[in-house]
Amino acid sequence: MLDAAFMCRWMYATAAAVDREAARLTELDSAIGDADHGANLKRGFTAVAAALDKEPPPTPGAVLALAGRQLISSVGGASGPLYGTLLRRTGKELGDAAEVDRAGLAEALGAGVAAVAQLGGAAAGDKTMLDALLPAVEALGRSFTEAAEAAEAGALATVPLRARKGRASYLGERSEGHQDPGATSAALLIAALGEVAA
Ligand code: ADP
Ligand code: MG
Repeated sequence: MLDAAFMCRWMYATAAAVDREAARLTELDSAIGDADHGANLKRGFTAVAAALDKEPPPTPGAVLALAGRQLISSVGGASGPLYGTLLRRTGKELGDAAEVDRAGLAEALGAGVAAVAQLGGAAAGDKTMLDALLPAVEALGRSFTEAAEAAEAGALATVPLRARKGRASYLGERSEGHQDPGATSAALLIAALGEVAA
């Protein structure tokens, strides 16, 4: 079973991964965006880690909801409200249970991903973070490892796509041939989940 401490470890592992990969995320965003994705997420997850350090919430749902609020308030780019909504909505779905199992987390994360789709108006194949998150949620019903693999494959599969949402969509066909930064960071988030579950 996954408790509040597990969710904190997930958020810390994500913060560490974002820190490690910030330059790469920014490089991807410099090709089809405005070169701030690494900095945006670094600022966001640093704020998440600081808030969790200060006062770790008592339940898994409260940990993710707090993380989501921190992302929304600390990140200026599109990805802040989107990731913030993902975690806040997932946390809300978990309610005030003290523990959740993998299937329960998969279901809650599914609601979180649906909220991201609703907020941003994007769908599968639009070359966004959803291209990593949607397959990850589906695979999380089977295992943490498969979820991480599905997210990574989803991020890689954005390379040939033409962006239809967000800043990269302004480039039209010139967005083809580049990996989407948000799908890449989403794969880091799900890889971190797999890491802490292992
Ligand atoms: P900004 O585009 O404001 O500079 P970031 O660079 O931090 O913000 O994030 C860009 C990423 O956000 C994109 O690579 C994409 O994955 C994601 N994104 C942008 N718009 C949307 C949207 N409408 N729906 C889902 N994801 C989106
Ligand atoms: Mg950007």
